Amino acid sequence: MRADLHLHTTASDGRLTPQELVEKAVKLKLEVIAITDHDSVGGVPPALEAAKSFPQLIVIPGVEINTDIPKGEVHILGYFIDYRDSGLNRTLEELRNSRYERGKKMVAKLAEIGINVDWTRVQELAGGGSIGRPHIAQTMLEQGYVSSLREAFTKYIGRNGPAYVERKKLTPIEAVKVVLNAGGLPVLAHPADIEPLEPFLLQLKKAGIVGIEIYYNGYNSKTIAQLKRFAKKLDLIACGGSDFHGLGEDIGADIGSVDLPRESVEQLISLSKQKRTVMP
Ligand SMILES: [Zn+2]
Ligand SMILES: [Zn+2]
Repeated sequence: MRADLHLHTTASDGRLTPQELVEKAVKLKLEVIAITDHDSVGGVPPALEAAKSFPQLIVIPGVEINTDIPKGEVHILGYFIDYRDSGLNRTLEELRNSRYERGKKMVAKLAEIGINVDWTRVQELAGGGSIGRPHIAQTMLEQGYVSSLREAFTKYIGRNGPAYVERKKLTPIEAVKVVLNAGGLPVLAHPADIEPLEPFLLQLKKAGIVGIEIYYNGYNSKTIAQLKRFAKKLDLIACGGSDFHGLGEDIGADIGSVDLPRESVEQLISLSKQKRTVMP
């Protein structure tokens, strides 16, 4: 099965509109995609609308919530969420506001070191969606401060860069609850760098995650094999996706570029159906 369960649109820091993303997925003959924007479900309704013309494509409403642990960042994916849920939308709005404030602070820090990033352009690139670091990086590129998006991250706005700013985030367990409360299936995104992973997975499994991302851009066969062992041991679905942002070749993977087993997608879909039948 051609599937990609991790995709960003202009509702967060992706370059394609939901409509364009759906059209691209159809062109690539994908059968199942999930829209998983950072802290936003704004891309879901237009993607579902666009997909009405293509019955061969299943679009899963999703989200990717950025959360914090002491040693770094953890992302929680939510699949089959009720994107109209008011509690979900309230929480996501708070998270997006914190992104806006953080973006402004980063631009101020850049100004202190002589890099005058055009804030209007950053907002324009975000197009009313969640402001992300790629929008700042793109503006820096356009203004000639860096020669690639990667350079903006490694030199300035990456986690160890001089203009990096933290923002308010949920804990991973809180994010899992947000997804569950909106009727969704929580999945841990790109977990390979989390140390130590096993106790963390146990904790999240207890909180309600149903899967972990194993088939992911840049994961080699050794990493995949190790993650598969964890998934098997804890009875978690082996999920995956490209984390496509549409930013071009120097940063990130292309849509549909990760081989996801049919079984994984089917498990996820059947779990969502089971859940719907037990829910009131
Ligand atoms: Zn992520
Ligand atoms: Zn992502």
